[in-house]
Amino acid sequence: MVTENLAEVERRICAACRRAGRSREEVTLIAVSKTKPVSMIEELLPGGTRDFGENKVQELCEKYEQLPRDIRWHLIGHLQRNKVKYVVDKACLIHSVDSLRLAQAISQEAARKQVTVPILIEVNMAGEESKFGVAPGEAEGLIREIASLPAVSVRGLMTIAPFVENPEENRIYFSKMKKLCVDIKGKNIDNVVMNVLSMGMTGDYEVAIEEGATMIRVGTGIFGERKFEERLETIE
Ligand SMILES: *Cc1c(COP(=O)(O)O)cnc(C)c1O
Repeated sequence: MVTENLAEVERRICAACRRAGRSREEVTLIAVSKTKPVSMIEELLPGGTRDFGENKVQELCEKYEQLPRDIRWHLIGHLQRNKVKYVVDKACLIHSVDSLRLAQAISQEAARKQVTVPILIEVNMAGEESKFGVAPGEAEGLIREIASLPAVSVRGLMTIAPFVENPEENRIYFSKMKKLCVDIKGKNIDNVVMNVLSMGMTGDYEVAIEEGATMIRVGTGIFGERKFEERLETIE
């Protein structure tokens, strides 16, 4: 079931890349496995899937222990400073950094463990009150501050678009994200590499690819509906 779903997602990614005149290699598919058992992840390993996304530190750490070391774990959910120490040496990319204090905590812990942690800045493109992330106008300032930290490396931006029936409604946010990323990249800030654009989920990843996503985060489309969980982590 999971492998069939993945094949369908893969087919749609290829079609979206073709429509946009992009090559398939430009887009990394992150299989969002939150709330799903290790056994479902294992079904995808023989086919070569290695990028998995989790939104909770504890769940990421538990799965990390049980699964092969060549898996690339992406932390995509809100991160609390007191949990940074558990995840800095396990996640290949932290997608959800939206404050200097959090980035400082990551850098401090990363330095202690003698690693450099790649991060993305989460941007709240639609200005939704329930979402984490900085306002688009604050992203560059935050990146400039974070750029001076020794053990984090800014790689790009991440956004969670609004939940909509028609994915076309999110096209504007994806295109604005792409523009924001290009603008900041053009500033050539030291220690900042703006080549990752993490945007698009099950409902809207094709539109996100058309607008320039380099990482898409697909959960439901691969693993099926989640039970006992809000669709997304939001601020209480
Ligand atoms: C859960 C989650 C996803 C995947 O959502 P689906 O709609 O199931 O594809 C993507 N990004 C983030 C940040 C999430 O928390």
